[in-house]
Order: sequence, then structure tokens, then C-alpha cells
Amino acid sequence: MERLDNFIAGEFTPPVAGEYLENFEPATGEVLNLVADSDERDIAAAVDAAERAFPSWAATPAEERSRLLLRIAELLEQQLEEFALAESRDTGKPLWLARTLDIPRAVRNFRFFATAILHASSELHQTDTVALNYTLRQPLGTVGCISPWNLPLYLLSWKVAPALAAGNCVVAKPSELAPTTATLLARLCQQAGLLAGVLNIVHGRGSRAGAALVAHPSVRAISFTGGTQTGAEIARIAAPMFKKLSLELGGKNPMIVFDDCRFAEAVETAVRAAFSNQGEICLCSSRIFIHRRIYERFRSELLARARSLVVGDPLDPTTQQGALISEQHLAKVASYVELARAEGGTILCGGERVHLLGRCRNGWFFAPTLIEGLAPECRVNQEEIFGPVATLLPFEDEEELITAANGTPYGLAASVWTENLSRAHRIAERLQVGIVWVNCWMLRDLRTPFGGTKHSGIGREGGWEALRFFTEPKNVCIHLPRD
Ligand code: NDP
Repeated sequence: MERLDNFIAGEFTPPVAGEYLENFEPATGEVLNLVADSDERDIAAAVDAAERAFPSWAATPAEERSRLLLRIAELLEQQLEEFALAESRDTGKPLWLARTLDIPRAVRNFRFFATAILHASSELHQTDTVALNYTLRQPLGTVGCISPWNLPLYLLSWKVAPALAAGNCVVAKPSELAPTTATLLARLCQQAGLLAGVLNIVHGRGSRAGAALVAHPSVRAISFTGGTQTGAEIARIAAPMFKKLSLELGGKNPMIVFDDCRFAEAVETAVRAAFSNQGEICLCSSRIFIHRRIYERFRSELLARARSLVVGDPLDPTTQQGALISEQHLAKVASYVELARAEGGTILCGGERVHLLGRCRNGWFFAPTLIEGLAPECRVNQEEIFGPVATLLPFEDEEELITAANGTPYGLAASVWTENLSRAHRIAERLQVGIVWVNCWMLRDLRTPFGGTKHSGIGREGGWEALRFFTEPKNVCIHLPRD
């Protein structure tokens, strides 16, 4: 069976302990390949390789760094099919989605930061006629990038591309549940001619390899995307070491539908926002607030659409909903449906495991689920489920709506539907989130700040925010003598 080794100092290297974990294909429940079960010795070797590569990488002109990143993007685009298939088999997502969303976005991430670095500039502050201050933005050194399983290459490249563009060396720890495209990316970096040690990939469990990366004293910054509890654990270890931290964590995102919305578009988007990638996107709308005047009609159209979603083999082009990442995760999602029942909710559709035939008979599929009748304060409306489950909540009063929408520990994103411009501005201003979409969802411009408030994290990714995170500003003050 194929083994995914670590990529350290430009070479594929078995883990020091010689141990591997099984990587399962969610659609079949069968083992797909084996992945290195690394520990702190592998992390130490990767950090050492990164430290050695850093002086030459940091001294490489931005234009050359840009050229290499563009080369990676180009190769990735050429190998899109292979990457998309690997992503779909690792995660259970529909192949067409990996082909049209995940891999193209990874290509864009590399292109975006490859060209952004050519336009980077820094501030100058003139202190009257007395002094000139200019800001140097220097790379940090070795940085750690830890990414989750839901959008594996998309989110890994969202961190790695700006880190490399800014002149840092990277040790990346992908999720052990979806590690294959990270290894394919390593191969591609070899092909592109990236200097050995500039990008290192160490596979393994978060609690071992991930924790060792966070705790390593030479790692200057940690860019993490994942669950809120893991983020808190990372902050606990990293903060006393004064590492820079970017934490992109969970969400419990509201979609808010007013009665003057463009109805058909809002229904269509609600389906996408709730169920894209089986609801396994941090930005998914899991609480849909609907104005009472259109509640019945909206609910019935949404229900019809949700019921018609095709759950099937991710490799089948007609499939709309693939498999959930693991049996454990499926059990967690199912437990929230049970909880919803216990809390007095009504399951309008779905709510159960889907059993397919043939190749996927042992796969981890769950039916798209809509629930109503739950108060905003109940656990199902407070906790992140991260699956194909959304709740419907009627509202009338704007004040109550804002209180309910803001009334969770999370604060990542919201989607607001209204044709009333003043109301859109008013609501957007009052929502305690990092991203508000008006009459759209997940429309991304890579230049904009990306991230959340409250338990959804700290820091922002995207555009200059990412390049600022991966550099250290240094002020140089030059006194201007009078004569
Ligand atoms: P986890 O927090 O479980 O894991 C994320 C990554 O962290 C994985 O690589 C994991 O490794 C690693 N990890 C786990 N424990 C530690 C540790 N103690 N120290 C260092 N690293 C560790 O999240 P999931 O992979 O389950 O992803 C789902 C979560 O990610 C959801 O909560 C979702 O909302 C969030 N997310 C947030 C996004 C955002 O931009 N805000 C975007 C996408 C997802 P391993 O998997 O090998 O255990």
C-alpha cells in the first residue's frame, strides 16, 4: 500500500519511529493509503531544514520567489485532475467540487501571493522636519502552518503561499485525515525547483506532530485553521513563548432572510450555504433566520430543494452530496440530530445516515437535514455541528434578530438578504462577525481580510493581512540634522 512520507529538506523521508496511520476513503470506509505518524523528532528535523534554508530563501529576490510560486501554480493547474481525484477520495467531497473549487482555489492562492509580493511596499512616517521613519517588513524565519481536513489543499496553500512569498520557510502539518494532496504538492515543489528546506511537510496526528510544531522554540509563528478547542490549546502553548498567532476557528454562521429579498436567489443560496461540501465548511450557514411573513413559503421551497439533493458516490458527476470525513464525525453529526429532538425540535428532512449500494455501501453518508422549532439559545443553535444540518428560525423584530444572530460564542461570517440598502448597512454594522455577505454567500476576493471574532479566532488572513502576519515590522528612525 502507498505510504505518504514526510517531506523534509527536499526529500521524502520516513518518520523516525517508522510508524504509519491508516488514511480512510470516506465514501467506501476502506483504507486508501498510509500516512506517516510523526513525532517531535520529525518536527525537529523539519525545523532544522527550514532554519538552514532560511538565509538563502530570505535573500532570494522577491521576483525570483514570485517566479517559483507562479511555477508551482502552473504545475498545479496542469495536474488538476490528479489533485482533484486525490482530494475527493481523501475527503469524500464530490469530485466535481474538488475540480471546480478546491484545486482551482489553491492555484489562485499561489498566483495571488506570487504577484502580491511584487507590489508590497511599506510605510514611511515623516516627523515634521526632524526625522524620517520607515518600516522594514522582514520575514520571520521558520513558521508553522496547521490546516484542517475539510478543504485540505485550499487551506494549506492559503497559508503556505503568503508565508513563502514573504520570505519565510515553512513546516506544514496537514490534517492526518486528508493528507494526500499535501504530499502531491511536495512532489510538485520538487518539480518546480523550490530550494530544499523552504517548504517541509510533516504528517501525523495533531496531538503529537501538531503539538510538537507549536511547542518548538525556533518556530516564530503559527498559522492555524481548525476547531476552536484546538485553537485554544495552541494559544495556551504558543502565547507564553510569544509566537505570532493567527487562529481561524469554527463558526455558527447566521443567514438572515428579510421579506423583501430576491426570493428564488435566496432559496438557491441557502441550499448552497447550508450544504456545500456536506456542510463541512467553516463559512456554511447553519442557522437560517427567515422573516415570519415569508417563513412558510421559504421553508417549503428550501425543503423541496434539500430533499432533492443527490447523496451519492463522490466520483459520480450527478452527486451533489458526498460522504462525511469519518465515521466518528458522522456519529457526532447524528448525535446533534438526536439532541435537536431532545430539545424539542422538528426534523423537517434528513436526520439520518444514508446507505448506498455497491462501491459506497460502507461509506459515511448523511442526509441533508433541516430542523425547526428550536430556540436560539439551545445547544443545537449554539454549537458548531460542521455537517449537513441547518436550523430554521422565524423572526419579526430586527432588535430580537440581532440579539439572536449575535447570541453565540462564535463570530465568523453572516449572509444578509434584503433589497433595502439602509437595512443591509445597518445590520452589517451590528453583526459581531468578521465577514458579512449581502445578497450573496462565499463570494471571495482574496484581497479582503478573512477571519472571525470571538471564538472564531484571532487575526486575519488574505491580502496584505497575511503578508503582514508573516513579516515582522521594524521601524528605522533617521534623524534629519538641521544644517
Ligand atoms: P481540528 O482542530 O481537529 O484540527 C485542525 C488541525 O490541527 C489538524 O491538522 C489537526 O491534526 C491539528 N491539531 C489537532 N490538535 C492539535 C494540537 N494539540 N496542536 C496542534 N495541532 C493540532 O479541526 P478539524 O480538522 O476537525 O477541522 C474542522 C474545524 O476547522 C471546524 O471547527 C471548522 O470550523 C474549522 N475550520 C475553520 C476555518 C476558518 O477559516 N475559520 C476553515 C475551515 C475549518 P489532525 O487532524 O491530524 O488531528
